[in-house]
Amino acid sequence: MSNPPPLLEVTDLKKHFPIHAGVFSRVSGQVHAVDGVSFRIGPGETLGLVGESGCGKSTVGRTLLKLLEPTSGTIRVAGKDITHLDAAGMLPYRQRMQMIYQDPYASLNPRMSAGEIVAESLVIHQVGTAAERRERVAALFERVGLRPEAMHAYPHEFSGGQRQRIGIARALALNPDLIVGDEPVSALDVSIQAQIINLLMDLQDELKLSYLFVAHDLAVVEHISHRVAVMYLGRIVEMTDKVSLFEMPLHPYTEALLSAVPIPKYSARARRRVILKGDVPSPINPPTGCHFHTRCPYATPRCRQDVPALREVTPGHWASCHLHDSGPMLPLRSPAA
Ligand code: SF4
Repeated sequence: MSNPPPLLEVTDLKKHFPIHAGVFSRVSGQVHAVDGVSFRIGPGETLGLVGESGCGKSTVGRTLLKLLEPTSGTIRVAGKDITHLDAAGMLPYRQRMQMIYQDPYASLNPRMSAGEIVAESLVIHQVGTAAERRERVAALFERVGLRPEAMHAYPHEFSGGQRQRIGIARALALNPDLIVGDEPVSALDVSIQAQIINLLMDLQDELKLSYLFVAHDLAVVEHISHRVAVMYLGRIVEMTDKVSLFEMPLHPYTEALLSAVPIPKYSARARRRVILKGDVPSPINPPTGCHFHTRCPYATPRCRQDVPALREVTPGHWASCHLHDSGPMLPLRSPAA
C-alpha cells in the first residue's frame, strides 16, 4: 500500500516581483524573492522557516496560500495540485489553509468587533446560521483564552497578546488543517510570546494542526518546530529535524546563524562563534553560483560558478553546499577559528 501524500507539498516554488521603471513603467528587472523552494509538511507537523529579514520566508507563506500568485513551481494540498486554481476553485482550500499575521495591531479591522472579526470567514463561507456562528465564535474565544463577553469589544480595547489570540481564533474558525504563522509572536513581549507559543502547541496537539512557522528568532523556532528549513536569498539552504540542525548544522550559513544566538542545551560545537562579513546581497541581482559565496568563510572559486543542489547529505538532513559533495564534511570548521 502506498503512503498517503503529505498534507502540503511545495516543489521548486518561485515568486519574482517585476521592477517597473521610467515614464512607460517598463519592466527593468526582477526581485527574486523566492527562487526555487521545495518542502513537505505532514499532518500534525510544524516546519519552522528561518532566515534573516528579506530572505523571502514570508513570501513563501503568502505564495503557498495563493495570496500571491506563484511565478512558477507547484503547490499540492493532500496530493491535489492547487497552483493554478482560480478564486472559486481555491474556496475549499481557503478553508483548509489559514494564516496568523505578524502584527496583531494591523491585522484586525478596527471598525469590526472582535466577534465579527472571528465570524467573518464563517459568514463568507456560509457556515451555519447566525446563532450557530455566535456559538462557534464564543467557543473559539474560550479556546484561545479570551472571555466570550469580549466578542463585543473592539481591537483597540485589547492588549497585544489578546489581539493575537483573536487572530488565532480567526484562523481556527473554519477548522483548517494547515496554518501559516508569519512571525506570529515577533511583535509581542517575551513573556507573552511564551504564552502564545504554548497555546499554538496545545492547539496542534488537540486539533492535529500542521504549521508552517515563519520566524527569525531561532529560540522560538527551536521550541515549536519538528523540522526546520533555513532560507538565504530566496532559497532553502538546509532542512532537517530540529535536533540535527541545532546540534550538527551542515551549511555554513546555518552555522553562522546558530552561533549568533547560542541555545545552551546544544553542544559547544554548535555554539562556536562565527562572524559573517558583509550584508545580505540584493535579491534584485543575487550573486552567481551559491548565493552565499560573498559571505562564506569556506568559499572556493567553484562556489562563484556552480549552484549547489539541495542534497540529502545524511538521512533526512538536506543541505546545499559543495563542501558536502562527496559525503558529509563534519564538523564544519571556521578557518578563522
Ligand atoms: Fe560556502 Fe561554497 Fe558551500 Fe556556498 S557552496 S556555502 S560558498 S562552501
